[in-house]
Amino acid sequence: MAQEDIFKKLVAHCKEYGYVFQSSEIYDGLGAVYDYGQMGVELKNNIKKYWWDSMVLLHENVVGLDSAIFMHPTIWKASGHVDAFNDPLIDNKDSKKRYRADVLIEDQLAKYEEKMNKEVAKAAKRFGESFDEKQFRETNPRVLANQEKWNNLHTRFSNALNDNDLAELKQIIEDEGIVCPISGSRNWTDVRQFNLMFSTEMGSTAEGASKIFLRPETAQGIFVNYLNVQKTGRMKIPFGIAQIGKAFRNEIVARQFIFRMREFEQMEMQFFVRPGSELDWFEKWKETRMKWHRALGFGDENYRFHEHEKLAHYANAAVDVEYKFPFGFKEVEGIHSRTDFDLSQHEQYSGKKIRYYDPELGESYVPFVVETSIGVDRMFLQVISASYCEEQLEKDTRVVLKLPPVLAPVKLAVMPLVKKDGLPEKAREIIDELKFDFNCQYDEKDSIGKRYRRQDAIGTPFCVTVDHQSAEDNTVTIRYRDTMEQERVAIADLGKIIGEQVSYKKLFGKL
Ligand code: ATP
Repeated sequence: MAQEDIFKKLVAHCKEYGYVFQSSEIYDGLGAVYDYGQMGVELKNNIKKYWWDSMVLLHENVVGLDSAIFMHPTIWKASGHVDAFNDPLIDNKDSKKRYRADVLIEDQLAKYEEKMNKEVAKAAKRFGESFDEKQFRETNPRVLANQEKWNNLHTRFSNALNDNDLAELKQIIEDEGIVCPISGSRNWTDVRQFNLMFSTEMGSTAEGASKIFLRPETAQGIFVNYLNVQKTGRMKIPFGIAQIGKAFRNEIVARQFIFRMREFEQMEMQFFVRPGSELDWFEKWKETRMKWHRALGFGDENYRFHEHEKLAHYANAAVDVEYKFPFGFKEVEGIHSRTDFDLSQHEQYSGKKIRYYDPELGESYVPFVVETSIGVDRMFLQVISASYCEEQLEKDTRVVLKLPPVLAPVKLAVMPLVKKDGLPEKAREIIDELKFDFNCQYDEKDSIGKRYRRQDAIGTPFCVTVDHQSAEDNTVTIRYRDTMEQERVAIADLGKIIGEQVSYKKLFGKL
């Protein structure tokens, strides 16, 4: 099945099973804003717990914070967001659709890459075992021609971004013959800068009210609390502050479900280090974060690092962790070496000293910062994309979400075979015993087969069926979602069997 079709099905599945709803749907929706339903909120909470505990529990020198969304407006001036948090936008005059010029060009780069990969895949199939990919890439004329186009475009693109040359961005779009996917035309406007921050008014009277911003990243809340946390927590450098919270960006193009939203959630950690040691820490955090992703078991080949074409105004190194979504490799997380830019700016704008006295060096300095920043919603999409499966069975097909059990919203469904003979009561007893440890669901409607399918669709890893034998010998059938195998086990053993599979501790063991 084409990847776009899979993605469409996945979006429909998220709605049908209570994972994600369009915001304000009964009023025809609000662009790029989504609500999480009864299943979605559980999955989201589990993702957040995986991240939070991996940061705060597993690192003695990382502590948490929950700062407010509203902040003093000068913070955004100091951070550079008022002047430079822009995206280059371009409109197609025929379709009236708006695009990000940089994304149009990135898609063009991806097209060249795809062409090369197709040639390689074709040749690999033809030559079988004896295929030498490196040699093929270095000698095949079609691959070489596309590689040259990629190189030229990449260089031009990086230069244009670094020089903030909007006219050149437009020229690239024209020279590459990039068309609007809706109208198919090349009738483009000029490229303009567009600030992504939402603003609102704080205060009751028109004269007294001041303009404030909805934060476009959670990081600044951490920077402005650096001194508070360092002092009250008696933190010694190196140390980190982790935070999960909402962020808001007035995204120009927001057409990829929860991949790009106007209101979203971030999990960010700022790690404060000695100046000069930041690039070593940058490498360490790159490795740590990649391990965190891979531990979920979605396949190492589906992740890669992507170096930035243009470094943000505050960074001296930056890399993205990309995951292979149904629509290609895309950023899930950014890891940035932010230098001492933010703290120095806040020193300057607030007039307060933001320093660390390093007893080992016997001197004070503004710490350098390495940041890891991941979107909860993008992570959610990664988990759902990796887990969604349509399986051909002997007689029919089943849709199953093969979620890592530790993240699954419902861990266990308990089903009485029939609605009589004391079986529902027995099933309730099991739930009453296990509900303190696991999210359980009671299900007695429809045939067992239908109930299994329903649980497969929401990704429940274990189904337990209570039958007449259960009343006699206190055993039940446990059915495993992925293999569909069933076995008879003692009710008394259920907690242990399930507990082992859904344990965060086991997952953390892989980090
Ligand atoms: P992009 O290039 O995709 O716009 P970015 O590089 O601006 O993203 P960062 O500022 O590095 O993103 O933000 C860190 C993380 O926050 C991203 O890796 C992503 O997971 C998440 N994120 C950023 N913008 C959005 C958004 N509009 N919707 C959902 N998640 C987002």
